[in-house]
Amino acid sequence: MEKVIIIRYAEIHLKGKNRGYFERAFAANMEKSLKGIRHEIRRQSGRYLVEKFDDGEVDKIVKKLTKVFGMHSLSVGYQVNSDMDEIFAAACEVSDKFGSFKVETHRADKKFPLKSPQISAAIGGRLLDYNKNLKVDVHEPEFVINIDVRENGKTLVFNKFIKCADGMPVGTAGRGLLLLSGGIDSPVAGHMIAKRGMKVDCLHFHSYPYTNMQARQKVIDLAQILSEYTCGIRLSIISVKEIQEEIHKHCNGAYMVTILRRFMMRLAERLAKKDGDQCIITGESLGQVASQTIEGMTSSNSVIESLPVLRPLCGFDKNEIIERSRAMGAYDVSIRPYEDCCTVFLPDYPIIKPKLEDVIAEEAKLDIERLLDSAFATLEVKEY
Ligand code: ATP
Ligand code: MG
Repeated sequence: MEKVIIIRYAEIHLKGKNRGYFERAFAANMEKSLKGIRHEIRRQSGRYLVEKFDDGEVDKIVKKLTKVFGMHSLSVGYQVNSDMDEIFAAACEVSDKFGSFKVETHRADKKFPLKSPQISAAIGGRLLDYNKNLKVDVHEPEFVINIDVRENGKTLVFNKFIKCADGMPVGTAGRGLLLLSGGIDSPVAGHMIAKRGMKVDCLHFHSYPYTNMQARQKVIDLAQILSEYTCGIRLSIISVKEIQEEIHKHCNGAYMVTILRRFMMRLAERLAKKDGDQCIITGESLGQVASQTIEGMTSSNSVIESLPVLRPLCGFDKNEIIERSRAMGAYDVSIRPYEDCCTVFLPDYPIIKPKLEDVIAEEAKLDIERLLDSAFATLEVKEY
């Protein structure tokens, strides 16, 4: 009897002619997520089986696989020869110790001598004899023993379905650059876009020494959490210290964040074009804070020359975003109390609905190109 993990994939089955492409990306992503752990992955008629792993690593493998986009559900179970004694032995292994159950059989191998209901009845009957703490309830069972008689002479036996991340395999929908702050929102935005199959790179702006090393570590930790979903991640880091000092020195303080945002967007587009990213992704949500009004977005958007800016959280309430942040495992890191560069030189009264012509007039007091070049020269790149 061999312990296996049965993988069922999500939307990929809808992808007609391109199906092979999506499946190869999916399989490659599973391999990446299990790198360094002994295992073999094998395709088997419309699903995948993970085999030949060490028993003690099952939980670790399951935890990693539930983060691979494109996977609908998985089950830990056994693969046995299609033989009633072997199937029964596997059913005993996967059965709960007490409670009500039913057996559900799917028979792909039409040559197997018993039909599905007969297999269910026979295995269910033997389980009742074997464990007196079990009873059958076909309407509302506490657990289900699933038996899947395959065409290759093997049968899969399992109990639970573990819900996975769904979505599309990362790498099948282009590549985007996520503006990653240390907050709650941007990691969630990256997670949502990666879920649709986009490979995500990250760009973080800091203002060291106004911001500290813990703030930097927080962003690295967030990028690492995200990288478990994105099959590795590139984190680029740029200093906007000089830009902020120059805005502070020369411009009306109320425009600090508005103008900084425009510099961030210009730097992001420059980096995206250098690295082959096809869009910019932010964690903005309409009206959440002063800089996220439609006027604020108009102002920062207007410096972008050609790339689309994706704002997947735009229509979400904060509590919905927090729920997603918790679900992806980023929340506890995101709420560590270190300051983001946007809070440096923060005015008491920021402009909430900036008029584009006023922003441009304020910004004209700066040597924009020189500041961009100088900031870009601070670029550091890390891979996780
Ligand atoms: P978050 O929770 O993502 O920090 P926020 O609610 O604090 O968002 P803002 O500070 O207005 O909102 O930032 C809006 C978006 O701008 C962020 O979601 C992020 O995409 C980007 N951004 C803000 N600060 C930075 C930064 N220091 N580095 C990179 N991107 C940033
Ligand atoms: Mg923030």
